[in-house]
Amino acid sequence: MDRKMTKPMENLKEAKDEKIKECVRCGFCCKQAPCSYGEVCGYTDHKGWPEGHCKFLQSNYGYTYICGKYDEIKHIENGSPYPMFGSGCSSPLFNKDRENVMRIIAEKAAKRCLTNG
Ligand code: SF4
Ligand code: SF4
Repeated sequence: MDRKMTKPMENLKEAKDEKIKECVRCGFCCKQAPCSYGEVCGYTDHKGWPEGHCKFLQSNYGYTYICGKYDEIKHIENGSPYPMFGSGCSSPLFNKDRENVMRIIAEKAAKRCLTNG
């Protein structure tokens, strides 16, 4: 369907109906800039992350990342209809880091299938 021919409300409904891409903790978004709870690191460290990366981002298992303020943010957002965590990926397009994590997850799943018969 040509989206230009639809009304704004129909476009909104379509957007909501589209499947949300899950967050696979690739860390890409937090490496680009901090969210409203984070803080800019201000320098490129030994990990080679961009200067603007959030200083609370932590490496996890070598290929995924966790937020050092997770518990604090969950507490602040308790009951929020729009929680930051659990809402899917904010940057699914042209995201090589996310693609890399997806590939590793798929490879691990395939290996489990093979070993389990
Ligand atoms: S690491 Fe946590 S605080 Fe920092 S940008 Fe990511 S989600 Fe926000
Ligand atoms: S870029 Fe998407 S998949 Fe990666 S950490 Fe951010 S929200 Fe999660």
